[in-house]
Amino acid sequence: MRIDVSNLMYDDMVLEVEGQETFAVLEVSKARYRFLEPVSWKATVAKSDKGYLVYGKARVVLELVCDRCLSEYVWEDEIEFSFDTEEENISLDGEFLDLEDVLLGEIVVALPVKLLCRQECKGLCPVCGTDLNEGQCDCQVPTGDLRWAKLNKFFEKN
Ligand SMILES: [Zn+2]
Ligand SMILES: [Zn+2]
Repeated sequence: MRIDVSNLMYDDMVLEVEGQETFAVLEVSKARYRFLEPVSWKATVAKSDKGYLVYGKARVVLELVCDRCLSEYVWEDEIEFSFDTEEENISLDGEFLDLEDVLLGEIVVALPVKLLCRQECKGLCPVCGTDLNEGQCDCQVPTGDLRWAKLNKFFEKN
């Protein structure tokens, strides 16, 4: 996301720009998610005291991995962003603002806290790993707090 600001000569001017950015993957701590489509964006740019203010929207289509059943699913969203280039320590590269990194950062922030392929995803059986969305297994899954399951089994035996 490179924006040519050479036309932005006066303080009361704003620049309307749009474009597309092709990213391969989004890195989030230890996970990597594939972009299924280029990110298309629209932005408005204005001069600030010492830098530029950029705000706009971007359409993001990513392949995420469900926290519960571990299957891949498509996540599509329109995210909003706003940057103050001075705050973000972005200096001009010639006559361009290079905003790729901050845009990627905004996408990371916009990701859902819990990644779910669907709200009612049943997840995997904690015993045999069967995808419970696709069918039932015969495991006796202890109800309640699964962290205690092992201990409960131990007490049952003794
Ligand atoms: Zn799922
Ligand atoms: Zn099972």
